[in-house]
Amino acid sequence: MKLLVTGGAGYVGSVVAARLLEEGHEVTVLDDLSTGHADAVPDGAAFVRGSITEAGEVLSAGFDAVLHFAAKSLVGESVDKPGLYWAHNLGGTLALLDAMRQAGVGRIVFSSTAATYGEPERTPIVETDPTRPGNPYGASKLAVDTTLTAFAGLYGLAAVSLRYFNVAGAYGAFRERHAVETHLIPNVLKVALGERESVSVFGADYPTPDGTCIRDYIHVADLAQAHLLALAACTERRHRIYNLGSGSGFSVKEVVDVCREVTGHEIPAVVAPRRAGDPAVLVASSEKIQRELGWKAARTTLHEIVADAWTGWQTPESGRGL
Ligand code: UDP
Repeated sequence: MKLLVTGGAGYVGSVVAARLLEEGHEVTVLDDLSTGHADAVPDGAAFVRGSITEAGEVLSAGFDAVLHFAAKSLVGESVDKPGLYWAHNLGGTLALLDAMRQAGVGRIVFSSTAATYGEPERTPIVETDPTRPGNPYGASKLAVDTTLTAFAGLYGLAAVSLRYFNVAGAYGAFRERHAVETHLIPNVLKVALGERESVSVFGADYPTPDGTCIRDYIHVADLAQAHLLALAACTERRHRIYNLGSGSGFSVKEVVDVCREVTGHEIPAVVAPRRAGDPAVLVASSEKIQRELGWKAARTTLHEIVADAWTGWQTPESGRGL
């Protein structure tokens, strides 16, 4: 298929673009490089530097589907600058959907998020659970999910939203490279690399067995596989929503311990105050995508996820190192 990958110079987008190319698809990446890196665009993909609000020109060349990753994704920043998040994540996506309609492109796979659920009432979270996002980031992504449902009914759009839990690991040299790193695993590995003296553990008084927050870490390569299945499953007039996690939760302390094991570094950890808005436990039920699309995480141990992230961090900063 001929595919447009928005945000394909970012972490998840570049891994999915690489996997799509491996499967024989023709890939064009559209990315404004506001947070992505031009050298993360995999070899073999065409690259257009630009905003999703300008997608019309690119799409007029004729495409079969769009995989939409381009977004603002920092929870804290979204609280400080909600307008930016509504403009980019909802406004930008509306412009993209409009351009798709005009160009006759009827299929989209969208990067949604666990943040659409907010503080969960029960665990693991299933797709029919209430969506009460606790910040503008989650709210803007939920607004896109709501729009996709409406557009499927109104215009026959074929859409799949994948609600990511904690994406981690690397695919060869394709790894996280955020200018502002907020995620746990990269921050822990930076200590092992000598880039930080210690890692802060945000809260050790949560109602969990060891007092630290529990999250569901999914390997980026397993996540990419789900996108291939989602693309194939796009059905006219339907909007499917799937959670994507590995189904098991690990605490911040457990993550730090596994990083110590993998790197052989003592990794000093310092307990710090809780980070605003962090739920104690976030674990996905991925039973629906397993049942309906036959997806299954192949890399389920935290050790494997961290080991791949560690390899990625030790390779030169280029997405072309596969
Ligand atoms: N966390 C931490 N120290 C860090 C970064 C994150 O203790 O330097 C904690 C954070 O409070 C949360 C968990 O690690 O409980 C996962 O955070 P991350 O930002 O990786 O993902 P999130 O679950 O917020 O999407």
